[in-house]
Amino acid sequence: MQTAYSKEELRKVLAPLRGGRVVLVPTMGALHAGHASLLRQARVLAGDSGCVVASVFLNPVQFDNAGDLSAYPQTPEADLELCRCCGVDVVFMPTPEMMYCADHSVSVEETHLSGVLCGAKRPGHFAGVCLVVSKLFNLVQPTDAVFGKKDYQQLAILRRMVRDLDFPITLHGAEIVREQDGLALSSRNVRLTPEHRAAAPGIRKALLAAADSYRCGVSAEDICAGVCAVLERIPGVRVDYAEICDAETLHELTDCKRPALLAVAAYFGEIRLIDNIELSR
Ligand code: AMP
Repeated sequence: MQTAYSKEELRKVLAPLRGGRVVLVPTMGALHAGHASLLRQARVLAGDSGCVVASVFLNPVQFDNAGDLSAYPQTPEADLELCRCCGVDVVFMPTPEMMYCADHSVSVEETHLSGVLCGAKRPGHFAGVCLVVSKLFNLVQPTDAVFGKKDYQQLAILRRMVRDLDFPITLHGAEIVREQDGLALSSRNVRLTPEHRAAAPGIRKALLAAADSYRCGVSAEDICAGVCAVLERIPGVRVDYAEICDAETLHELTDCKRPALLAVAAYFGEIRLIDNIELSR
């Protein structure tokens, strides 16, 4: 495995590895088993003749909250070890100064899917994601990229970006990896208090119960109100949103026969957790 710390090193290291599939897995580091699952999928997609590239970059421009950025865990040594174990060929680990010119002034913004769910609550977040992912796509020039469904809206927006900007890249969505108790793995979980960590699997329980209710024909409005009520019974928890939407457009579900998504964001103290579940009737 090779590590590139600058764009120049990355280009140099990648040049001789091109020829087969080049599969990119973008991450912000503090890697866990959820990331490992994406990296292993990338390894399978790349095969023996292809190449897996992981980026580990805490992208400042996608943070709408300075405190969240400064408290974000960073574990570069362990990240490199995990990448090695998952069969990654190249890790790209730039600093923010290397990624962005001080006076960078070009934005990449998706304007339809980004206005709802997390996009409505975190202004600028998805523009920051689209900017960094376009830069990574241009730098790595992958044939494929793997993203987790944990960030379902992010995946939907990036699919739209790839389509509308003609990136010749196939995106793959990976299933959510969870702890035994159902909590979706997240780099932010280590920041939960012991009480909130113990209560956090309540999100998954609420989502599973909601999926049952949806199957039984309960209205979206009642289901979402129920999810909010259950979660806000936990001391120190505030639901940011709980919404059922069309799984493709992320906008209002107009035909209940279409695939639907229930997405939730909730603050456990200061820590914002997200999760989702695909619904069918
Ligand atoms: P992050 O480092 O949080 O930006 O995540 C990097 C990639 O890993 C994104 O595509 C995430 O959706 C994905 N990811 C993070 N947590 C999980 C998880 N628990 N299960 C599956 N994918 C995940």
